[in-house]
Amino acid sequence: MGVDSRQRLRVMRTLWASGVNLLCLMIYLAAVYIGLIDRFDVFLTTAFMLGGALFFYIAIRSGWSLRLSDPALTMPQMIYFMSVAAFAYVVVPPFRGVMTVTMALILVFGAFILSPLRCRQLGWLAVALVGIALGITAIRTPNSIDAHVGVVHFLVSAIVLPVIALLAGQLSAIRFVQKAQKRALTEALEKVRRLATQDELTGLPNRRKILELLSLEERKARRQLLPLTCAMIDIDHFKRINDSHGHQAGDDTLVLFSSLLSSELRASDVLGRWGGEEFILLLPATPLVEATAVVERLRVRCDKAGLWAQRPELKVTFSAGLATHRPDDALQVTIARADGALYKAKAEGRNRVVSN
Ligand code: GH3
Ligand code: MG
Ligand code: MG
Repeated sequence: MGVDSRQRLRVMRTLWASGVNLLCLMIYLAAVYIGLIDRFDVFLTTAFMLGGALFFYIAIRSGWSLRLSDPALTMPQMIYFMSVAAFAYVVVPPFRGVMTVTMALILVFGAFILSPLRCRQLGWLAVALVGIALGITAIRTPNSIDAHVGVVHFLVSAIVLPVIALLAGQLSAIRFVQKAQKRALTEALEKVRRLATQDELTGLPNRRKILELLSLEERKARRQLLPLTCAMIDIDHFKRINDSHGHQAGDDTLVLFSSLLSSELRASDVLGRWGGEEFILLLPATPLVEATAVVERLRVRCDKAGLWAQRPELKVTFSAGLATHRPDDALQVTIARADGALYKAKAEGRNRVVSN
């Protein structure tokens, strides 16, 4: 059946339709056996029916139909098998009574995939096919049908088939709405999940996520007996950017600043937005001296005018405070120590790195 669940469903539905065809065929053969109908008529109808069933099965099962907008070939299958029912009406007189039922069954398949409009259109097509079958029968073998019976067949079909098509269309509409709701819900859930962990402006992990990662890194550092250093980074005089170039320029600066820092870091380092124009950098397996050198390198890079060549008006520097986590301390203590160092860096004149 294949691994794709939708393709499996398509093949299953085609097999269902083939199963119905086969059951009908068995009844036809029984009718031949008891001499109710002519062998040749049955041969023709069966060839028409099974040939189509085989064609659609191969087209779907082989994956050929995947290139089409409806890989289930719903419309072609429905039109084809309704034509078979109409054909049977013309050539197998004893079975004329079952045509409307067959058409109705075929129309129900539309509820799985077709739009309500297509379902209704097929309902009218079914009525038209009944009319054509009756017309051909009246011309070809006028003696084989009572005119009144023919009119009754047509009228019943003209009432029943459009109603069934309408109901199939309504079912289909419910399915469409459910599908759209499910998609909207999945998207909303995805957004909520993203917002819960990611800063919307910079795309960096947000404060909540960073605290989670920090606790994870702390456990790892404890297990592996490795140092874990934390750096609080704050943009210098950021307010000036907002004041002189506007809030949008402030936002652009934050985005540019965070991508600039990210591009300079190792894959194992984690940069997050702590809030406002403040960032936090986790440096796993990095002792204080080495971490200070890393952040100092970042500071020098950031201070270079060339990096801001495209938006020189957004150029900023930053101050940073570092602290290496002590195994016995709570994480909050380490953050507070890094914060204290940052405060010192600001007090000492900004654009510098201070370690605690
Ligand atoms: P300092 O060097 O002492 O850190 O000075 P500063 O101006 O950077 O710091 P201050 O805390 O006085 O101002 C920070 C400003 O950052 C105030 C606030 O309006 C702005 N800000 C915070 N978050 C955002 C943001 O997401 N977008 C923009 N555009 N501005 C923000
Ligand atoms: Mg600042
Ligand atoms: Mg600040």
